[in-house]
Amino acid sequence: MWDDGWDRVTKLQARYLAGDHDAAMVAASEVQRLPATLQPFVEEPEYHFYAALARAARCDSIPANELLQQLEALTVHHDQLRVCADLCPENFAGHTALVGAEIARIEGRADDAAMLYEQAIRSAQESGFAHVEALVSELASRFYAARGLGSIARMYMQKARDGYLRWGANAKVRQLEEQYPYLRTDEAAPGSTNAMSAAIEPPELATVIKALQAVSSEIRLEMLIEMIMRTAIEQAGAERGLLILSDGRTHRLAAEATTAGDAVRLQLSDAPVNATMLPESILYHVLRTGETTILDDASAEPMSNTDPYVGEHRARSILCLPLRNGAKLMGALYLENNRIARGFSPGRIAVLKIMASQAAVSLENARLYRDVAESEAKMRRLVDANIIGFNVWDADGNILEANDVFLRMVGYGRDDLVAGRVRCLDLTAPEKHDDAIRARIELAETGRTKPFEMEYVRKDGGRVPVIVGFAASDANGRKGVAFVLDLTEQKQAEKKVRESEERYREVQAELAHANRVATMGQLAASIAHELSQPIASTVISAEAALRWLDREPADVDEASRALDSIVGGANRAADVLGRIRQLVTKAPRRKEPVAINEVIREIADLVQGEARKSGAQLEMQLAEGLPFVEGDRVELQQVLLNLIINALEALNDIDRVRRVCISTTETEGACVLVTVRDSGPGFGPNGTEHAFTAFYTTKATGLGMGLSICRSIIDAHGGRLWATDSSPRGAVVQFTVPQRPAVSSREAQSTDATDAD
Ligand code: ADP
Repeated sequence: MWDDGWDRVTKLQARYLAGDHDAAMVAASEVQRLPATLQPFVEEPEYHFYAALARAARCDSIPANELLQQLEALTVHHDQLRVCADLCPENFAGHTALVGAEIARIEGRADDAAMLYEQAIRSAQESGFAHVEALVSELASRFYAARGLGSIARMYMQKARDGYLRWGANAKVRQLEEQYPYLRTDEAAPGSTNAMSAAIEPPELATVIKALQAVSSEIRLEMLIEMIMRTAIEQAGAERGLLILSDGRTHRLAAEATTAGDAVRLQLSDAPVNATMLPESILYHVLRTGETTILDDASAEPMSNTDPYVGEHRARSILCLPLRNGAKLMGALYLENNRIARGFSPGRIAVLKIMASQAAVSLENARLYRDVAESEAKMRRLVDANIIGFNVWDADGNILEANDVFLRMVGYGRDDLVAGRVRCLDLTAPEKHDDAIRARIELAETGRTKPFEMEYVRKDGGRVPVIVGFAASDANGRKGVAFVLDLTEQKQAEKKVRESEERYREVQAELAHANRVATMGQLAASIAHELSQPIASTVISAEAALRWLDREPADVDEASRALDSIVGGANRAADVLGRIRQLVTKAPRRKEPVAINEVIREIADLVQGEARKSGAQLEMQLAEGLPFVEGDRVELQQVLLNLIINALEALNDIDRVRRVCISTTETEGACVLVTVRDSGPGFGPNGTEHAFTAFYTTKATGLGMGLSICRSIIDAHGGRLWATDSSPRGAVVQFTVPQRPAVSSREAQSTDATDAD
């Protein structure tokens, strides 16, 4: 059984050393399936060691969302190794430090990683584990190479090759030599600059760590910039240093440091870079290529004739380092020493390169931190101002934090909050649960919701209308914050507007009714006169019928004809009375299909007597097959009645022909147009719009309400009513009413071009 476990661990180790990390992971999972077969303190730590290294290597090529899970697994391996290292440091301290270094590398803690690689090498050396030392060196080399520190990477890779050679892993040595040809020959490592190609002393580890710590210990942007500049000036032994920050398009000077004796004077700034500050050609070269530029003696270079800065300031030693965070160029660090040539030693440059790469990461973090802090401060101000309700909720729907506005809104106290008695579910009105579920889905998908209307149930059971928006603080939308606005006042105001609109409509309807009654009163005499005719003829027909029946023998045919005429006359009278009743009865507005020509004929019947009284001719030119309009029949009758009566009244004082013509036609825009034209004097010098002003009248007994009521009735029907003067004289009042939507049926009537008289 033991052999089985050992075989699997050996397979894992071999796959990892061969660089086949996927196969190594498969081998690791095979071991994991049989953990009980591993010998504690021998096979088990080896398993955790190589499984961790394989997993760490794969972290470089997995999507960001899987990283967390991998890091958790790595931590488990690390913890297991730590247990072994605590009991037996001489055997496992190196292993543990290396896995720790890899975790720090993946988490972006560069200075921790550098320190742990070094610690791992030291432990491996002390324990005499050549293979662990070689492994650590190989990984440290990759770490430095990834940060653009070619020379240091090369030095570590050399160390790794030597270690594998001592261990007897010849295949691994061959593999490394193939991958890094400089291990076999003297050829220069790729990417090294001229100055770096000379053999250099590896930098003092303590110096590197000190520089790294200095530029990673600060998160406040301004303090960080100061720290970077002081460290850079000190490390480089420079006279002057500039920090240039770039957003990809513009490059701005963020700080300038100068030395005066032992002191470093620092000035923060925010100005666009220009040629008086530094050699722009060098800066742009560094920003373009992302490579460090070193000039041993700029004044001796041909550029001193072309670059105004170099010529004017007699610049000598110049070092310009890119500040790069991964692929993103954050800016550059420019250092100069004009007292001496070759003022920057390769060792110092190496330290500055490490420092610059960490500085770029720290600057990015500090910028993010500043942005987050600024938005947080804004949010805090909003929340503290207690203008808007705010709460923080958790995955179980508990409200953990809330401001006073929110608590007041829902009627809970802070003690309820502390006791965990304020819960999202209890607050949501039952009929709004579906909306709450929809919001939860939107949160999970997008991390936020659009503001939507809700109703909260207060602690006392009352309701409060709100508008609420959520933002998630975790990836699944199960925790987050809510912003809540109380809509009570707005809803009350809306209700008031609705009520007053309703009241307005009621008053309008009452007025319209009063106007109808008044008009009917005005017509009473002529209508009575009109009705007296059919009644009189009814009496005559009745007498005739009696006479036909009294004959010997009775003439039943004639009597029956007389009785028919009685029925016809009575029906006509009943019709007229029915219409009058409709006009004087108060009924709610209806929406029905109305045949407008029919309405015109009915009203013409009613006003016939009045027209005759004023000696006027009533003409109708009604278009054939008009579409039905939609509206209230009685109200439309009222409009026509008003317009015709006005027209008849306008004819009173004239000597010429008295004529009123009512015509209909279909217009573009799916409307029916009704025109009432008279041969009267027209609206006169006061103009037509005056006539629509309420209470404007030129008549001794007029009320001045007719036209304004007619206009509001037509407005309510979605139409338009207007008046013009006709040429050479007379008035024209017209209105449109929209036809009934989506109905193709039309009025079944023939063209009328008749004198109704
Ligand atoms: P009233 O008929 O009670 O005066 P209206 O609002 O119906 O109230 O009319 C207002 C005024 O408009 C009338 O007094 C009259 O001066 C003018 N007017 C209305 N219709 C006509 C018309 N056909 N010809 C001339 N003037 C008119």
